[in-house]
Amino acid sequence: MTASLVCGGAGYIGSHMVRALLERGERVIVLDDLSKGHREFVPGEAAFYRGDIGNGELLDRIFRENTVDAVFHFAAFIQVGESVLRPLEYYENNVTGVLRILESMARHEVPHIVFSSTAAVYGEPTVVPIPEDLPTAPTNPYGETKLAVEKMLRWASEAHGFTYGALRYFNACGAIEDASIGEAHNPETHLIPLILDAAIGKRKCISVFGSDYDTPDGTCIRDYVHVTDLARAHLLTLDALRRGEGNKTYNLGNGRGFSVNEVIEACRRATGRRIDVEHAPRRPGDPARLVASSERIRSELGWTPRYTSLESIVETAWRWHIKYRKA
Ligand code: UDP
Repeated sequence: MTASLVCGGAGYIGSHMVRALLERGERVIVLDDLSKGHREFVPGEAAFYRGDIGNGELLDRIFRENTVDAVFHFAAFIQVGESVLRPLEYYENNVTGVLRILESMARHEVPHIVFSSTAAVYGEPTVVPIPEDLPTAPTNPYGETKLAVEKMLRWASEAHGFTYGALRYFNACGAIEDASIGEAHNPETHLIPLILDAAIGKRKCISVFGSDYDTPDGTCIRDYVHVTDLARAHLLTLDALRRGEGNKTYNLGNGRGFSVNEVIEACRRATGRRIDVEHAPRRPGDPARLVASSERIRSELGWTPRYTSLESIVETAWRWHIKYRKA
């Protein structure tokens, strides 16, 4: 039976992808160096290799020992601010890492890869909701590395004959319904888990980064999309690649924007807890408004997010958060 290789399958989005693949009866192999991932996030049904995505020999061994027809790539550095301070580490991990994967895929004729890209490829968008054909103009090294890989995929796919999906996520959030896995970054930098930390008293308050943006309430607007909806979009993309449909680039978002203040309000409602706020300066590199048009994947592959309200997303994040933070 052919298998999917999930690079970074012990991390937040990767581990939800592993569950979605297993639920569908697929064979799954996880490659993760556990520098950020969690071994306990990988279920026993998945084969596990501990190691670096940049290790070509290990990749060759995995492709020799298994018949892999698709690679999913989640093993990336993802912090915008950190990428500005340490750009070379971002190029090393996010670009060179994928280069090694593609080289090994070419040697073993692996036919498909689904790559985790980002809304950060658009920079400060001139059109909202953002369609995929808007010119890309990243404003930070994180977005640049993801865009560099998208371009590398295009050229390498022509030369080596594999097909790819590049999925540009907006703001991934929430957790699987049974709260067995969820968001667990260290240090945490994402808005919803930080607000939930304030709700359980692990933080004094939530800092709002900028209240003077050109938005209705002055705070940044983002498109929050549930992690299991992201995983389903990957499955649909994989199916399309397996059907021979050719390369795909899709935005993944709900198509609705919520301000930081609205997210805090939704967390208050979902948790019933007091959440204090402090106003802080803008965070460098943050665009005012990022909202997806996901019409392309909706019409081509029939993807419809199941979690459309912010409350329903936050409720799943909250169930996981209480358990994980032992609150
Ligand atoms: N944000 C905030 N306070 C925080 C963390 C984030 O106000 O402690 C804001 C951030 O400026 C952005 C939004 O929340 O406008 C979402 O940020 P996050 O880091 O979760 O995701 P990103 O949009 O960077 O992918």
